[in-house]
This record gives sequence, structure tokens and C-alpha cells, in this order.
Amino acid sequence: MSEDIFKKIIAHSKEYGFIFQSSEIYDGLSAVYDYGQNGSELKNNIKRYWWDAMVRLNENIVGIDAAIFMHPTTWKASGHVGAFNDPLIDNKDSKKRYRADVLIEEHLAKIEAKIDKEIEKAQKRWGETFNEVEFRNTNARVLENQAKIDQIKKRFVDALNANDLEEVRQVILDNDIVCAVSGTKNWTEVRQFNLMFDTKLGSVTDEANTIYLRPETAQGIFVNYLNVQKTGRMKIPFGIAQIGKAFRNEIVARQFIFRMREFEQMEMQFFVKPGTEMQWFEQWKETRIKWHKTLGLGNENYRFHNHDKLAHYANAATDIEFRFPIGFKELEGIHSRTDFDLTQHQEFSGKKLQYFDSIENKSYVPYVIETSIGLDRMFLAILSSSFQEEEIAKEDGTKDSRVVLRIPPALAPVKLAIFPLVKKDGLPEKAIEIFNTLKYDFNCQYEEKDTIGKRYRRQDAIGTPYCITIDHETLTDNKVTIRDRDTMQQERVEISKLHEILDRKVNMKYLLEQL
Ligand code: ATP
Repeated sequence: MSEDIFKKIIAHSKEYGFIFQSSEIYDGLSAVYDYGQNGSELKNNIKRYWWDAMVRLNENIVGIDAAIFMHPTTWKASGHVGAFNDPLIDNKDSKKRYRADVLIEEHLAKIEAKIDKEIEKAQKRWGETFNEVEFRNTNARVLENQAKIDQIKKRFVDALNANDLEEVRQVILDNDIVCAVSGTKNWTEVRQFNLMFDTKLGSVTDEANTIYLRPETAQGIFVNYLNVQKTGRMKIPFGIAQIGKAFRNEIVARQFIFRMREFEQMEMQFFVKPGTEMQWFEQWKETRIKWHKTLGLGNENYRFHNHDKLAHYANAATDIEFRFPIGFKELEGIHSRTDFDLTQHQEFSGKKLQYFDSIENKSYVPYVIETSIGLDRMFLAILSSSFQEEEIAKEDGTKDSRVVLRIPPALAPVKLAIFPLVKKDGLPEKAIEIFNTLKYDFNCQYEEKDTIGKRYRRQDAIGTPYCITIDHETLTDNKVTIRDRDTMQQERVEISKLHEILDRKVNMKYLLEQL
């Protein structure tokens, strides 16, 4: 598939109410999108397919809904604050941007150079008899400079650990560190550049009140591990699932809903006995790929990609990649996260996060297998693989074309469209009567405008599996014409059979039964 198709899909998503750019009337907000009337239905159906497959079908997996805001220490424990941070500072005169840590380190290097000079001088003076260690330990100027270095380093490291950026700036000011271009110390405040979005809690704007929009949903699960295990009386192995928003201030964000700044994740953390994680890792790889393939988007569109370079906390990791219009790319990650997260939270919170294994009669911190899939990426996978432009032969021998979304019927936004052939003779009333009996079980749409052909095209374009037409005969024989999206076959069926026909095709139960 080419970039061209990708552009068509983006245009189609907008034209048919799937995806709009956020705040479009203000020219949009980069890498942020809104789901329209059909998009939100599709999204909800994907969520249900995932949630039911995880939570309903596995009695040892339960679901939670944690808050987006979490205690800031969470992100220190998880490594997100420390690991992805660049403290940035700007010089107001030259407009040059620096990394605060680099400025300070360069300053320390200058002091270091002074010590080296003293040593060089002394060496020349004393010649062969010079003892560098003794000189470093006794020379007043060297000691003074070394003390300076130690003190600056300590202050700087403490400030970074405490996330005290004002103090980082103060270190720069107190040490008369100037911009190499302007020569001034007219510095802005120090800002962390991190993938995490931050905001303030309450009205006081001091650093201690900084909280983050979570960059992943997983941590909401880890901090609730004990709550769920105890209240749910969960026995290892067990899982906790969650669907929710995550936020990342992505630098490269130009791939439609593939890479967004606000997106949704569906994550499940599976807690296992240490030593059994590799077996569970393999098990979850199998379970997850089956979930994907059952949708029927084409087995050739999936592949595993094992990570060569593992994150410091992982002992195995793989991605399920999907063939998007922009090529094979990560759709879902499956990671063996060891006991890293729970151990970190245990350390940072001072609370024990263990499991008492009554069979082994001992307590341990469980190991974790994570499955993490982006809901929006899943949406894009479905949309892009179901989008088809087709040429169709008309009855009179001429050719026509249609755009059809062959969305798996159970996930389709609208399941049934109901059309009266004409807007009179009691046909709309009959159509509405049918609508009212089916609407409780299926998302139905009523349409009476335009020719039946045009109405079919509109429904094809949003992926509606069935359309029915109510004509004059319906009033006497209680039958309607039902038309199938994929085969375009039409058939006359009893109104009383509609529920059964629809249910067989669109009920998610039949999809779940195949898992
Ligand atoms: P990538 O390498 O593509 O940035 P990642 O490895 O950082 O992704 P994870 O942290 O493993 O992603 O997140 C799990 C899942 O969340 C990914 O497989 C993806 O489906 C989804 N995801 C991550 N970042 C984004 C984003 N910016 N927009 C949409 N979905 C995302």
C-alpha cells in the first residue's frame, strides 16, 4: 500500500465522520485528533472486543480504571522522570538554548582545568620529587577548587533528584555561568524537556505541585497491584487490565493517528511467579496474535518483531507489527518486565508489594508480563485494511465504483440501515416500527433521503454490514429486502427473521467464541 492510499484513508475518515483534526476551526492542533460519530462507535467496539477477550473470558483477569493523574513519585519510581529528562535553559540575550546539565558540567571542567594547571606548575618546580597525591591533599588552592567542584556537583545532583529546577538555575547563577555567545547571565528558568506533559495541582505554582499526564496506563495498574490482589482475593497467576488515555509530547508526530500526543492504550499486566515468566511470555504472544487474526484482517499483515536491545527492566520483549499503509509498524508490545516496576514502587513508597504464595509458604515480588496495544493504532489497522475502492458492474451493463469499508461486522459502527423505498404511503412508518424493535440490540440507522443506490453507497462507505428496504409489498407480506455489504446480494426475508440474521453476523459473542 502506498502513501496515496494513506491520504485517501485520511480524507475518507474525515468525510464520513470517523476522525477529525482536533480544533479544526482554529487550524487544528498538531498530532491531536477527535473521533466523530462513526469513529467513536468503532472505537467503542474495539474496546469491547479487547475488554471482553481479556476480562470476561479469563476469570483470573480483572479490569480497573485508574486516574490519569498520579502521585508524581510514581514517575520517579517508573524511571520516566529520570530517564527521559533534558533540563533546558535559554539565554534571553542570545536566544541560544542549552542543556543546563551541560552548562554546569562545562563549568566544572573549567575548575578542573585550574587544578590541572596548579599541578603542572608544581610538577615543573619540584621535578622528580613531585608527589601528586600529596600535593592534591595539601595544596590550599587545589583543595579549595576541589571543594568547589564537590559542592557544586552535590548541589546539582540533589536538585535534579528533587526535580528542583529553580535550584538548578540558581547553581548556574551562583557560579556566574555565562552564555558563550552573549557573555551574559540573563537566563530563563530551567525547563525539563521530557515526553511527559506536566501541569500544576491546585493553585500554588511551585515545583512541588507539578504532576504529569500519564505517558502510559501501566503504572496505574502497578500502584493498585495490592489493592486489587487483596480485595479481589486474586491468586497468582492473575492479570489486571485497563483501557485509558495516555499522553506523550512526541517530537515526530506526523503520521495521522499512528503517533499522537493524546492517545489511548489497552494494557494488561499479568503477575506471575518468578521463574515462570518465559512460559507466560510465550503464552501471551500466542493469545494476543490469535486475538488479532480472529478479526480476519489477513494473517499476512502481522508479524512478530523481537527486540534485540532490551530496556533495562525487561528480560524479553516483542512487538506485534501490522502492515499499515506506511509499512510494517508496531501495533502492540508484549514485554516481560521482571519485578522491576513493583520493586521500584516498593522502594519509593516504602510499602511492601509482595504476594504470599501459600503453596510455597513464602512471599515474593511477582514478575510481570505486559501486553500493551494502542487503541488508535488498532483503529488505524482496521480502517486501513478494510478500506477498498471497487469497480462494480451495474444491471444495465455500465460500470460504477464504490468505496467500501469491510470492517469486521461485529466492530462496524452501524449494524443495520433501514430505508423506506419512498417517503410516503406508510412506508416510513413501517420502517420506523422495525427500527424501534431492533434498536435495543443493534446500532441501526434510518435513512429516507436519495435513491436506494445512493443510500447503499453511503452505508458501504461507513461499513454497515446490512441494509434493508421497506417497499409497498412489505405492508402486505411482512417481508423486506436485505442487502449484504460484501456480496451486494439482495434477498427477501421475513421481518420476524431480521433479528436472528443480524445477530448471527454482528454479535461479538461469535467472534469471542473463536478465541
Ligand atoms: P513507538 O516505538 O512506536 O514510539 P513505543 O515502543 O514507545 O512505541 P510503548 O511504550 O510500548 O510504545 O506503548 C505501547 C503501545 O502504545 C504501542 O504499541 C502503540 O500501539 C501505542 N502507542 C505508543 N505511543 C503512541 C502514540 N504516540 N500514539 C499512538 N499510539 C501510541
